[in-house]
Parts: sequence; C-alpha cells; structure tokens
Amino acid sequence: MRCRWKKLISRFIDGELDKEEKEFMEDHIRGCDICSQELRFLKMIKDNLNKDFDYQIDSSFRQNVISELTDIQTNFKRRFNLWLDDIYTLAKRLIPAFTVVLLLIVFSFVFRQQSLAVVTIEDVLINNHLTKEEEFILGNDELSPGVILGLFLNGDSQEGGY
Ligand SMILES: [Zn+2]
Repeated sequence: MRCRWKKLISRFIDGELDKEEKEFMEDHIRGCDICSQELRFLKMIKDNLNKDFDYQIDSSFRQNVISELTDIQTNFKRRFNLWLDDIYTLAKRLIPAFTVVLLLIVFSFVFRQQSLAVVTIEDVLINNHLTKEEEFILGNDELSPGVILGLFLNGDSQEGGY
C-alpha cells in the first residue's frame, strides 16, 4: 500500500507547503488512510522528540545510577558467598557418607579376594572324583584341614604303590 503524496506529510506538519499544496493535502488526508496514518505517526514522533528536549536531567541522576549499580554488585557478591557457603556445608555433610561408601567398596573387594583364596583347596579336592573313604574323611568335622590334606597325599602315594 503506497501513496504518492505520503512523502509530503512531514513538510505538511512542518508548515513548509504553500497555500495550494496545504489545502490539497488537508483534503487528501481526510480520504487517504495511508496519509492520515503517516500524519498520526509523524506527529507522535515529533511530540516525543519535543518532550525529550524539555526533559531536564537531574543533577543527582548520575549518583543514583552509580549507587544503584553498586547495590546490585554488592547484592550479587552477597548471594554468591551464601551460595558458596551452602555448597561447602553440603560437601561437609556428605563426606561421612562418601567415606562409608568408599570403605564398603574396599572391604567388599578385600573379602571377595580372601573368600576366593580360602575356598580353593577344598573346592579342588571336592571337584576331583572321590572314593567313599575320601568322602568320609572330608565329611568328618573332627579332622583338621592339615590331617585331611595329609591323608589325601598318603592315599595318592599308596595308590601309586599298588
Ligand atoms: Zn495519501
């Protein structure tokens, strides 16, 4: 949507048109949406510009801005320090829990190694084919592991002798 007279609006507002042009534009603007809209728009800008020129900058404005910014900075530092305190407190509270978990991991690892080592001798003997005698010896709780091992070794040498 364009109008060839739109470009005359700013000169119309500023009173730079001659009498004939001015009368023509007054008549045209009443019937043209584009030009009446442009007229309102330019008038609004002009009014706001005049307001800005009238505006007196307060002498304490600079001081207010600086103190406002300092407040924001101080506030931010304070909040940041509080946040650090929170994290520090939380970390301190979690240290015992972390220690317990770490100890559990270490202990479970150590015990697993030990239980594997302890089981081996009997497991090896049981996994071999046992005679009735050997089962009786293994099943006898009164015999110490040393005696059991000795009986097995003797049995092997006797078998070899036959
Ligand atoms: Zn127009």
